[in-house]
Amino acid sequence: LDVLNYFDTSCRASREITDRAKRRIPGGVQHNLAFNYPFPLAVDRAEGAHLVDRDGNTYIDFLQAGGPTILGSNYGPVNEQVAEVVRASGPVTGLFHEYELKLAEIIHRFMPHVEMYRSLGSGTEAVMAAVRGARAFTGKKMVIKVGGAYHGWSDTMVYGLRVPGTYRMNAKGIPFGATARTREAFPHDLGQLKRKLIENRLRGGTAAVVVEPVGPESGTRPAPRDFNAKVRELCDEFGALLIFDEVVTGFRLGLGGAAGYFGVTPDLTVLGKAVSGGYPMAGGVGGRADVMAVFGSGLDGRSGAHIQVGGTLSANPLSCAAGYFAIEEMARTNAPVIAGRAGDRLTRGLQRLIDSYGLPYVAYNQGSIVHLECSGVMLLDMRNPVKLLKENKARKRLMEQMGAAYTAHGIITLAGSRMYTSMADTDQVIDDALARFDRVFA
Ligand code: PLP
Repeated sequence: LDVLNYFDTSCRASREITDRAKRRIPGGVQHNLAFNYPFPLAVDRAEGAHLVDRDGNTYIDFLQAGGPTILGSNYGPVNEQVAEVVRASGPVTGLFHEYELKLAEIIHRFMPHVEMYRSLGSGTEAVMAAVRGARAFTGKKMVIKVGGAYHGWSDTMVYGLRVPGTYRMNAKGIPFGATARTREAFPHDLGQLKRKLIENRLRGGTAAVVVEPVGPESGTRPAPRDFNAKVRELCDEFGALLIFDEVVTGFRLGLGGAAGYFGVTPDLTVLGKAVSGGYPMAGGVGGRADVMAVFGSGLDGRSGAHIQVGGTLSANPLSCAAGYFAIEEMARTNAPVIAGRAGDRLTRGLQRLIDSYGLPYVAYNQGSIVHLECSGVMLLDMRNPVKLLKENKARKRLMEQMGAAYTAHGIITLAGSRMYTSMADTDQVIDDALARFDRVFA
């Protein structure tokens, strides 16, 4: 009641705006991260570690737009450099701009295995492109992903595609045939992955295995330390490409991303979010030069060997310059390490609070990706779909309520269960956040 009272009395402008939105915007909310219990907040300003809503309430912002802003929100020095590029050329021309190249070069500097890079419009698009590229390069048909992993919302890779061997979740509007060539392996189950690779030999072979290297859902179910190396070996054994979806981990786990963190080299890397420093049109695919050749277009596209990817606003000067300047600034300031230390401090503090109250919760992190699980079902049982659906529903409701409680105490999270720290999270910000969590837990 205290929480609902907060929204009733302190968030009147947000309520008015989001009530109005219900008449013109389906469901009254556009963004899948706009936390909507009891209704979404309408944002007025954001800077660094904080954001201010339309009612003037200030929050510690651990959503950080879902992960792209490793330097912190609305980062002035990058904004100024981007503005200069846009002043000169506008945000888009459709021709070539040097910042497209500068972005590919700086990615290669920190991720040497990204020998060539193709800028696209989002993580979703980049995953689609990587899968298409893998099929074109290998001539094989099947793709394997890990159950529970999120790779955007395309028909073939949608989240909760299906629980293996049974039926699908979250897949309304997707015809069954669209997912016929995508198979899901249980998280962290190398034996099952191998069986699927063997079975796929009779289905046209496996073009690629796609993983989130930290584990499904940005490491909500953390992968064992040697998992990626073992998947790499299996891919080599079966002639499948290994695709790392580094939309979240790229630059966040370090400038070398998860590949650097785990010391495993994928064939293709999907980037998003931080690759345009929080500016729109964040996404691209890069990797081995021989594989990336299938993305050739324009000058060498006349052979007909290339595949079609990209669109009107892909690889525009604004996104590419923003990515280039943001990566340069992250390197100069050591932002991923600073954000990671903030994540460690937040996680340690949360676990101390959990222990002191004797709560059935758990906090864990991979650097600046922090998980706070209050449902007691952290490791959802992927083998029991009925139980999974039931638990997931109950979990979602509880986490939503916890998220609302955090918000009412001045902390924005991703759906009540995940937090992204940034370079702006000083010890003081983290300690302030912990004092607020203390009040919620109490
Ligand atoms: N892959 C992963 C691991 C993601 O977390 C996301 C988005 O959260 C995507 C792909 C999709 O990226 P986008 O939202 O830019 O389409």
